[in-house]
Amino acid sequence: MAVIGQDIDQAARIILNGGLVGMPTETVYGLAANALDEKAVLDIFKVKRRPSFDPLIVHVASLEMLHSLATGLNDSAQELLYRFWPGPLTLILKKKNIVPDLVTSGHSTVAVRMPKHPMALKLIEKSGVPIAAPSANPFGYVSPTRPSHVDKQLGDQIPYILDGGKCAIGIESTILEVSDEEIKVLRLGGLSPDLLLPFKGKITFASFSSSNPVAPGMLTSHYSPKKKFVVGNLIQLMEQYPEAAILSYTTFYPGRECYVLSKKADLTEAASNLFHFMRSLDEGNNEVIIAELVPPEGLGRAINDRLLRASAS
Ligand code: AMP
Ligand code: MG
Repeated sequence: MAVIGQDIDQAARIILNGGLVGMPTETVYGLAANALDEKAVLDIFKVKRRPSFDPLIVHVASLEMLHSLATGLNDSAQELLYRFWPGPLTLILKKKNIVPDLVTSGHSTVAVRMPKHPMALKLIEKSGVPIAAPSANPFGYVSPTRPSHVDKQLGDQIPYILDGGKCAIGIESTILEVSDEEIKVLRLGGLSPDLLLPFKGKITFASFSSSNPVAPGMLTSHYSPKKKFVVGNLIQLMEQYPEAAILSYTTFYPGRECYVLSKKADLTEAASNLFHFMRSLDEGNNEVIIAELVPPEGLGRAINDRLLRASAS
């Protein structure tokens, strides 16, 4: 099992020696490596069993670091990053040659984000290199939001997990591709699309598919528990699956294994509980998990996106 601790110097040394570290961010835990070290990046793909066509997000701690990786930021991209960095926003930008093709799966663009978690920022600063970090889970499974989640699945393959506690947001970053005319949401995430409304450009949403290698994060089936996971009307589903465990938005149903995302109907709280509850249900005694969608507003859209993809097969 990995060592779980708060020694940022040790984590930085591992990164600089080409190793992998579990890194807390405000969205989910990442599997971190030096983004400029091709061998270390290859290890990320191996440990996660991630297909090489699925590019990684590169995390930076300063604008200087951003400019070392990417070029051609238009006004819209600059305005967005001034407003939302550090935070749950990833921008797709034109890559510089320094970024290995492996990181971007051969694309001419690179996904970049400045995380808000103080430990992530310190780790990047101390390492002095940009850090590639996909979610620290086997490919296709529910993302980790606590150090124990990372340890359980990847702990025997990595030396160290930085313990930054429970992720405050608990859902992955929002990924945007922006031009002067358009803000295209490639992945719904921790930054609510409502917050994009004041910005210049028409907001559009990419649809996800099971066979679109141009935008691999939009695979239909993702974030999936091992158990059968069904989304719909809970009252009907409870009849159909009398034994099933329940993931509900606000209501506790007695007599069954039941997790409530937010008793007070708070979408921020629901997002922060989502993956932890999905993992707990996956480890429970029931063979089937039934869940309901949340109101499709603000962060609710990203939550529903994850629920629907978890239920797709
Ligand atoms: P993860 O790190 O698991 O949260 O997934 C990161 C996601 O970022 C990938 O699955 C891609 O969808 C997206 N991504 C990374 N780089 C690019 C890129 N150059 N163009 C489009 N999407 C990207
Ligand atoms: Mg992931």
